[in-house]
Order: sequence, then C-alpha cells, then structure tokens
Amino acid sequence: MSRSVRDYIRTIPDFPHEGILFRDVTTLFADARGMRICVDQLLDPYAGTRIDRVAGLEARGFILGGAIAHQLGTGFVPIRKKGKLPGPRIEEAYVLEYGEAVMEVHEDAVEPGQRILLVDDLLATGGTAEAGIKLIERLGGEVAGCAFVIDLPELGGRKRLEALGMDVHALTS
Ligand code: 5GP
Repeated sequence: MSRSVRDYIRTIPDFPHEGILFRDVTTLFADARGMRICVDQLLDPYAGTRIDRVAGLEARGFILGGAIAHQLGTGFVPIRKKGKLPGPRIEEAYVLEYGEAVMEVHEDAVEPGQRILLVDDLLATGGTAEAGIKLIERLGGEVAGCAFVIDLPELGGRKRLEALGMDVHALTS
C-alpha cells in the first residue's frame, strides 16, 4: 500500500524542550511524493471555491503556502513573527504557554473582500492561527478556510478556530 502523509512525518522526542514530542515535517517536505500528496490533499476540500490569496504562518506555513499558491495560481501572503516585515504593517499579540508572541502582516497584503486560505503545518492550541485570522480580518479579508497538515486535537485548536466560525481542515492528527 502507498504511504500516507502521516507516514512521512517523524516525531522527535525532547525538542525543543524536554518532554515535548516534536512533529517534524521536514521529512514530508523532503520527499517528492510526500510534498505532492500533501499539497494536493490540503487543497482538496476547496476545489471549486473562490480563493484569492494564500496566507502562510511563519515558517513552515511559507513552504506549504507557496506551493499551494502556485498550484492555485494565486498570490502568497506571509504572516510573520514580529520585526521581520519591512513595510507598513499591523500586529496581533497572542498568549503562549510561557509569555506572549506577536505576528504581523503588511497592511497592503490583503485587499478588502478577498478570500484568503490560511495555511500552517500544525495546529496545537490555535493561538498562532487565531492571530493570523484576526490580521486577515482586520484588513477586510475573509478567511476561506484554515488548512493544516497536523491537528493535535487534545490541545484544543480546532475547537477554538471553529468557535470563531472557521472551517478547519487537517490531514492527520
Ligand atoms: P499553536 O499556536 O496552535 O499552539 O501552535 C502552532 C504553531 O507552533 C505552528 O506555527 C507550528 O508550526 C508550531 N508547532 C508547535 N508544535 C509543533 C510541532 O510539534 N511540530 C511542528 N512542526 N510545529 C509545531
């Protein structure tokens, strides 16, 4: 039987801290077939729907988002950690396990009324994705869907995004 997306992902214990089981998607991205089926399956539910731009969350969301945007024939919008974007931008702070983080987007990256597909490799608590959703919506965009390779449902991210009215799509848990 051919390998599924899940089969290409490896789990690394104690990274970046002791006790964390880190899902490493570089092995998925490094494999030609893995990358292909991953991008195809992330896009599958959106066939026939209007998507004007793809937004990716730093950093692995850039790898997926670029490939997806190319396949759809749309532009790509990077949503970055604070301090990386050079132009006029807006920011959203969100809570991490220890402390706070801030994501930013260029204020001209999304035009009012555009339908944006938000992409990242992994959904955990949903804090990062929620910051991305708020940034897109503050610019007048509509989030057409939130697509992830991995959803860790026990961390509550899916419920959190669904409570915001989002359509959440993930390939594996
Ligand atoms: P959340 O904000 O949903 O709690 O965390 C999701 C963010 O953290 C994503 O941007 C994701 O890339 C990163 N992340 C957290 N844990 C992991 C992991 O085990 N593997 C990978 N690849 N990314 C992770």
